[in-house]
Amino acid sequence: MPYKCQPIASHFINGEYVEDTDGKIIECIYPATGEIVAKIYSATPEIIEIALSAAKSAQKSWGKLSGTERGRVLRRASDIIRKRNRELSILETYDTGKPLQETLCVDATSGADALEYFGGLAGAVTGEHIPLGEDWVYTKRIPLGVCIGIGAWNYPTQIACWKSAPALACGNSMIFKPSEMTPLCALKVAEILVEAGAPPGIFNVVQGYSDVGATLVADTRVNKVSLTGSAETGKKVYAAAAAGMKHVTMELGGKSPLIIFDDADIENAVGGAMLANMYSTGQVCSNGTRVFVQKGIKDAFLKRFLERAAKIKVGDPMNEETQFGPMISERQRDIVIGFIEQGKAEGATLICGGNAIKGDGWFIEPTVFSNVTDDMTIAKEEIFGPVMSVFEFETEDEVITRANNTDLGLAGGVFTNNIQRAHRVVDELEAGTCFINSYNDAPVEAPFGGVKGSGVGRENSKAAIEHFSQLKTVYVRMGKVDSPY
Ligand code: NDP
Repeated sequence: MPYKCQPIASHFINGEYVEDTDGKIIECIYPATGEIVAKIYSATPEIIEIALSAAKSAQKSWGKLSGTERGRVLRRASDIIRKRNRELSILETYDTGKPLQETLCVDATSGADALEYFGGLAGAVTGEHIPLGEDWVYTKRIPLGVCIGIGAWNYPTQIACWKSAPALACGNSMIFKPSEMTPLCALKVAEILVEAGAPPGIFNVVQGYSDVGATLVADTRVNKVSLTGSAETGKKVYAAAAAGMKHVTMELGGKSPLIIFDDADIENAVGGAMLANMYSTGQVCSNGTRVFVQKGIKDAFLKRFLERAAKIKVGDPMNEETQFGPMISERQRDIVIGFIEQGKAEGATLICGGNAIKGDGWFIEPTVFSNVTDDMTIAKEEIFGPVMSVFEFETEDEVITRANNTDLGLAGGVFTNNIQRAHRVVDELEAGTCFINSYNDAPVEAPFGGVKGSGVGRENSKAAIEHFSQLKTVYVRMGKVDSPY
């Protein structure tokens, strides 16, 4: 019997599906039931070779088109994605287990946003004119060449689009390697780009485990690597790219603080903390998992949080009423349960959830610890699951020091009705992306990325153009060359 989500073939190269059954088998498992929904093959050296040569040769003519011509393709792809949102959202739900209620409004749609935004921007990627008396210099923004995109498993459609849209807008080609846990969605993005008129070879998808990613990164034909993944993987990929002096964007993990002052609107603060910890079953890199609550408001905050958490609808992700799905894999569920056990053993107070849910799939209850101290494992390690840690604090200076006491710096948030304090605190937070009276918004118009161990470079916004293009400087002399020789 055919599998529910079986693609035509494992890889998409040079405008078509390609198969090589000699590769290691990758089983695609629907996290809500454990059912195998597709079986594909990891790329063999032959597949990697045809992808690299396709991307290399296609880039030359793509890079020579005008930005407006390239942008038109991206905008058409955006329209197709929006038209097919429901079908793509169902696939995203099979790939990740995230509830359809989420995927319908976040995943394919944010991918479409990126294609639309960078499609619009493509024609505006220009250099400058620098007058020097009768001579002048002009600069051009030129493509980098062949780019590798490597994705994590939490947002497979969005990550493929967030990387390919600015890359293609700037005239590059891309080979994208999805996480082997969520290999299906990027194939659809590739299909749609071709349907929208992208020339063959401009966006290719190659499946595989980390060895495939590492082979792609090391190849001398590759000019740029954009990774979304853990901080640990980021260090390895950054080092491998540096050996070939390649450009990088590293979107890595976080352990971000969310600070709630006692003058905050409690309902908004609770809503923000829920978005910062429970959305996508807590599998979001920028999550505000260290929730610092000022002493005077702590009891009221926890009471409301628990009341609202008790109403979270956990269950079948395909039911549009469901708000909370399973973890991506059995392994990830066990890792998160391990952290919960450590939290209990080290003395944090478990006030909500804490258990794996019996039955099919890899569900965990929404979990909250209070009385967490800064030295505990759950306060220091990225858990990547629905586990919120609540810390008590008294003063602004104290909380800023504690919030910054981490090697990571992806995001940070503050809830307060004191406008001066809000800006003062975000000024002090060592984080790439900050929120005031909100959490986890990621509009394509705004730069997104981390500081410290959370990465380098920025995705989205005009900033992404700088990370997918480079400057060429041209000096133009009008008069004679004044040479002393
Ligand atoms: P991993 O770091 O394990 O993997 C990320 C990707 O890198 C996967 O496709 C992986 O392949 C590949 N990879 C692993 N090792 C190498 C290597 N040496 N060379 C090339 N490629 C390699 O992350 P997860 O998939 O587990 O995702 C979770 C992590 O991603 C979390 O830490 C999270 O915070 C972070 N993340 C960051 C985001 C951001 O924008 N800052 C957004 C979303 C997630 P394989 O899967 O086969 O190992």
